[in-house]
Amino acid sequence: VWSRGMSDTLSPSQRSQLMSRIRGLNTGPERALFQALGARRLKYKKHVKDLPGRPEAVFPESRVVVFVDGCFWHGCRWHYRPPRTNRSYWSKKLKANVARDRAQSKALRDTGWTVIRLWEHTVVADSAQAVWKIEKVVSARCASAKRREAK
Ligand SMILES: [Zn+2]
Repeated sequence: VWSRGMSDTLSPSQRSQLMSRIRGLNTGPERALFQALGARRLKYKKHVKDLPGRPEAVFPESRVVVFVDGCFWHGCRWHYRPPRTNRSYWSKKLKANVARDRAQSKALRDTGWTVIRLWEHTVVADSAQAVWKIEKVVSARCASAKRREAK
């Protein structure tokens, strides 16, 4: 999940600069994931708004949700670099983002969803590999759903 509420401490021009940078980053990993999912002919829904955290991809039948976590916004330990200015603001923001991720994952799990969180960098590096992982989980979940029905 990409864009987060922007701070009011930024001037409008700073904010629009930041937003356009983020939008530029956004499309890459997300598009790569959607393309790779499409290539495998997997059926999914994009950006389901009524689920916590608005997952990037949702597989309703197997109840699997996929998030692509931006390395910056979600604090990837390899790629997160604190901005040079407003450090305390950004570190608080990051902590809040991470806490929100956890709460959203938990809320989803508690309601029977399997949650897959992928780092932006893994999707960018190898989207086919990321999709392979998703496919494995989705098909395992489908199989167990069928077993339940058969009983
Ligand atoms: Zn990363």
